Amino acid sequence: MSSDAAPESVVVVGGGLIGLCCAYFLRQQGLDVTVVESNSVGSGSSRGNAGEIIPEIAAPLSTPGIVRDSLKSFLDPNSALFVQPHFSFELFRYLRRFVLSTRPTVFEKSAAQLRDFAQDSFDLFKQIESEGSGLNANTEGFLFVFDTAAAAEKSLRMQTSTTGVEAEVITGNRIRRMEPNLSAKIAAGYVLKNQWTIDPGRFIDELTKTLRAASVSIIESTRATSIGMNDQSAWVRTTDGTFDADNIVVAAGVWSRDLCRTLGVDLDLVPGKGYSFNVDLPHPFVRTIQFADVHVVATPMGDNVRIAGTMELDRRREHFSPGRIRSIIAAVDPYLAEVDWQSIRNEWVGPRPMTGDGMPIIGRIGPDTSRVMVATGHNMHGLTLGPVTGRLVAHLVTESSALSDANPFDPAINGRSKRWSHRL
Ligand SMILES: Cc1cc2nc3c(=O)[nH]c(=O)nc-3n(C[C@H](O)[C@H](O)[C@H](O)COP(=O)(O)OP(=O)(O)OC[C@H]3O[C@@H](n4cnc5c(N)ncnc54)[C@H](O)[C@@H]3O)c2cc1C
Repeated sequence: MSSDAAPESVVVVGGGLIGLCCAYFLRQQGLDVTVVESNSVGSGSSRGNAGEIIPEIAAPLSTPGIVRDSLKSFLDPNSALFVQPHFSFELFRYLRRFVLSTRPTVFEKSAAQLRDFAQDSFDLFKQIESEGSGLNANTEGFLFVFDTAAAAEKSLRMQTSTTGVEAEVITGNRIRRMEPNLSAKIAAGYVLKNQWTIDPGRFIDELTKTLRAASVSIIESTRATSIGMNDQSAWVRTTDGTFDADNIVVAAGVWSRDLCRTLGVDLDLVPGKGYSFNVDLPHPFVRTIQFADVHVVATPMGDNVRIAGTMELDRRREHFSPGRIRSIIAAVDPYLAEVDWQSIRNEWVGPRPMTGDGMPIIGRIGPDTSRVMVATGHNMHGLTLGPVTGRLVAHLVTESSALSDANPFDPAINGRSKRWSHRL
């Protein structure tokens, strides 16, 4: 392919939610698509997540006041937000940018851009579902619960002022009639409608089937070791040979950083590990429950519930700490009337790809003519933003690069990526 001919083939590196959604929309555009996955599809930070699809309330982690409110907890290994003590330039760069992003004007602008980006999310999920990738979404909304009425009112005021959503505070007894498995510790709460949850593992498996049926080649157990490009083509070297294509999309979650480094580009990306497990409840939840005081979420999944939480900034990306599961149980147990803790299964850890400003990094790496795109940094919203990211990437690959001028997630935005060589 000459440098200005339309691309015909693309290799997507990474078979997580983002890589698979990119593959879907690229195939829709008629491209010949190969996905290269080092482990198995969904094995990074995607399969065990909480399954929330929340286009109306998606926001960066850097809420104004979070540093002041959470400072003590940063170094407490039992807290929801924990920084594993270590020094690295990457962590320093992340924390610095994170703190700067908590300024109210910066936060509000970023949150508005995320919600803008996510606004077609439900429609695109429905489109994917219509082609056979069953979602089985729970659309009953989220019930946020609190220890005190004052905390519920404060949280609702913040939701209303930043996102415009509407709800009313309800009291403990009414809440327990709605969800009998909640305990008397809960004093108040509110329901946000128009929020969905799905089983992300099931979605990944169904989407993989849809892609394979559409002739997308998904190659598992094959690790990309470097990427390169020239005027004529691009390539990915892997543990199983070299794959050539007109374009490469790096969607390898937090590992995207290592791959982009082989091109001489350093992304602002650190792992923010979260944990989850499934457990049986005598009265399954009707809605998804947000235990806001302890930053834990419980998502109904068929006849059981998935409990997920914690944000652990730890450079050991795959390291599983059983103590984190125990901390989640200790935090959530007082809020549950009955639970069979012996029935715990699927204990899981996943490294969210976190960026200092809480925004994804999506676009070409290097000049407009570059054949390498990146799609990562989805922080806590990779499921919500998966389909809209796939659609944007497919546009960026197939349409003129002028589109990237209006793209707020462009890697070139100051501080998102740092180029240290002239290899591009
Ligand atoms: C506990 C928890 C709860 C969450 N809840 C939600 C939620 O409710 N809603 C929501 O929207 N988001 C949620 N998230 C965030 C969401 O899961 C992530 O944003 C999303 O999974 C990121 O997807 P990804 O495809 O970018 O990365 P990953 O899922 O990490 O995928 C990257 C893939 O690339 C592969 N890979 C890595 N290196 C290479 C290589 N060199 N060659 C080939 N392949 C490679 C990996 O094996 C992996 O499969 C949650 C995350 C956690 C941890």
